[in-house]
Amino acid sequence: MNIDLRDKVVVVTGSSKGIGKELIKAFAKEGSQIVINYFQSEEAANQLYNQIIKHNKKCIRIKADVTNQADVDHLCSETISTFGRIDVLVNNAGICDDNLIQLMPEEQWRRVIDVNLTGTFLCCRAFSKIMIRQGFGSIINISSLKGQGGCEGQTNYSASKAGLIGFTKSLAKELGMYNISVNALCPGFIVTDLNRHNDEKRKIAMEKSLMSIDNSLHDLLNFILFLSSDRLLGVSGQVFNIDSRCK
Ligand code: NAP
Repeated sequence: MNIDLRDKVVVVTGSSKGIGKELIKAFAKEGSQIVINYFQSEEAANQLYNQIIKHNKKCIRIKADVTNQADVDHLCSETISTFGRIDVLVNNAGICDDNLIQLMPEEQWRRVIDVNLTGTFLCCRAFSKIMIRQGFGSIINISSLKGQGGCEGQTNYSASKAGLIGFTKSLAKELGMYNISVNALCPGFIVTDLNRHNDEKRKIAMEKSLMSIDNSLHDLLNFILFLSSDRLLGVSGQVFNIDSRCK
């Protein structure tokens, strides 16, 4: 089965590194028109941009802090002025900043909620305005298994990711009438800068896996490509776990 993503206009927030970067490369291979978004990692975003543009892909890179309304408006208006529309928005930008609750300053709580949850809200609000006018679009929110199962030391992160699940289901109900789908994906453990330092968590994740192979990044990328294609038009308001663990 062929999935045709040629010329689809795709915005991936937080795509200077990690999962977002791999997603940009995957959409580029499919011939999509791509918006790289970064905040702090300008050098990494430039490298990715140069790599993509070599193969004549239509690609732009935009610095925007997803927690900042003006930045998000800029991300949205630059996308539309360059490509004329938005087909797929992947809300991938995210951080974690772990601490036990007794040791967690309010700022540490707020920052994680702000980037992971409020950032997604701001991007969805801006881009869905365009999608409503178009009468089509697909929004994919990257949540986490931690949003369902929780994790000690990650009350802020788990709460933000659980919040994304309720947010996704509610937004899907608001936007369905405009042919806009909204889904959430919950990856398990994928080694990136977000968790590279945490060998113990990686070990535990692998021990809980039912599968002997770790294909989680590729599975996530392929799942997102499939969800972004016209092969799936009527799937919305769903939460997909991209993992092999049983609860
Ligand atoms: P990562 O390697 O640390 O990358 C995070 C990305 O988010 C970076 O490109 C970063 O851009 C961007 N970002 C952070 N704050 C931002 C802001 N305020 N505005 C715009 N961009 C911002 O993390 P990752 O592992 O790829 O995670 C990507 C997403 O998957 C996150 O939402 C994470 O919660 C989720 N997830 C990851 C795993 C995992 O095991 N890795 C599991 C489940 C869910 P700059 O560096 O340019 O600021």
